[in-house]
This record gives sequence, structure tokens and C-alpha cells, in this order.
Amino acid sequence: CGIVGYVGTEDAKEILLRGLEKLEYRGYDSAGLAIVNEEGVHVYKEKGRIATLREVVDSSEDGQIGIGHTRWATHGVPSQLNAHPHQSANRRYTIVHNGVIENYAQLQKEYLQDVALASDTDTEIIVQLVERFANEGLNTEAAFRKTLSLLKGSYATALLDNEDAETIYVGKNKSPLLVGLADGVNVVASDAMAMLQVTNEFVELMDKEIVVVTRESVTIKDLDGTVTSRDSYIAELDA
Ligand code: GLU
Repeated sequence: CGIVGYVGTEDAKEILLRGLEKLEYRGYDSAGLAIVNEEGVHVYKEKGRIATLREVVDSSEDGQIGIGHTRWATHGVPSQLNAHPHQSANRRYTIVHNGVIENYAQLQKEYLQDVALASDTDTEIIVQLVERFANEGLNTEAAFRKTLSLLKGSYATALLDNEDAETIYVGKNKSPLLVGLADGVNVVASDAMAMLQVTNEFVELMDKEIVVVTRESVTIKDLDGTVTSRDSYIAELDA
């Protein structure tokens, strides 16, 4: 399983699909992607092969920002409904996640009693919490950091905000995640292989950090919001 993200100037869905194909070797049961454009967010997801996902992605729907996922189900059967991306109740936020949220049931009970969940995944709790905290007045980044600080378990995750078609928020704990750097383009991937099609320059993310990724900037912070800097490296791999 794996995640990918793209923010740049090209058609995101094709780059995401190619990235997901590069992650197929890791194993998966479902795949999906989301892109954002002027009309809002478009989510495509399917049980089964990337080739099946490719067939349902609307080729006329362009967007220069998006996230993608291959799922290895841990909570909820492999199905279209449980495939990622998942969305929040008001559909403002869209998320992909690899890993396991051990305290998802407890978080649901504590914060989300009044929210009707759409899937059987532990992942959906993350995106519903972000929306809950945003509804309470936090900006997206603060809502994302607060959410991640409540999670117990493992995650590599990427979040889109429908109201801000410029930014991907990513976070990680105990699952690998890289940010790839290029000129006017930045990407996200579980494995550099997935994004060698765009760049070979990457920054590694540490546990309990987030990155705010836009076309022109990559800002690494800890869960308290303190900015950290880290040198990039060149991946010595063949595409
Ligand atoms: N625990 C999540 C799920 O079952 C993510 C699984 C994964 O790592 O792909 O949907």
C-alpha cells in the first residue's frame, strides 16, 4: 500500500495514476484518488486494480492538485465504500491514509458521537476530526495538527481542503513518507519510486511532523506548529 500527492501545473490525475502503478509492488486491495479544481473536489475509488481505477477516472476532469492511495485493508472489508480517499461529513476535507489508528473507537466516542460515518475504516475518524476542529474555529493546519496529536498508532496521511485548492497537508508516524521537490511543483510519496517521474530530490519526514506543501513551498513543522528545516537528498534510483 502507499500514498502519493501532487501540486503543480500539470494534470494531477495522470501523474497520480502513474505513481500508484509504481507502488503496486507493495500490495493492495483497492485504490483511489482525489483532485481539486474550480468546481471542487472529485473523488474516484475502486476495489481491485489500478487499471480499474483508471477506467473510472473522468479524463475530462482536470486539476493541478491531488492525492492518491493504494489500500491494504485493516479496518473494514476491501470495498469501494471503504477504499480511500475518505471525506468529512460536510465534504470540506478529503484524506488518504496508510497505517492503523489504534484509538479510533475512543476518539469517535469522545468527539464524533453526532457524526454519521460513511465507512467502516479507522481512517475516516481522522478526516472527521479535522472538520470538527475546523468547525470549532481552527484553521486547517491547526485542526490537522490537533487531530494528529490525538492519534495513537501509525499513519502516513495526506489531506486536501476543498476551500484551498493550493495546499496538501501531510503527516506521518511510523510509516514512511517523503516530499519531492521540483521547480514550481512539489509531490508526496511513500516511496521515491512513485515520483521519480517528477523529481529525484526528496526530503524525508520524521515521526510526528507535518508538512504544508504548495506549488512553491514545503514547510515542515512539529505537531505544536514549530517550523523545522531539513536538507534534501538526491534519490539514486532508476525511474
Ligand atoms: N487502516 C486503514 C484502512 O483499513 C488504512 C490501511 C492501509 O494502510 O492501506 O483503511
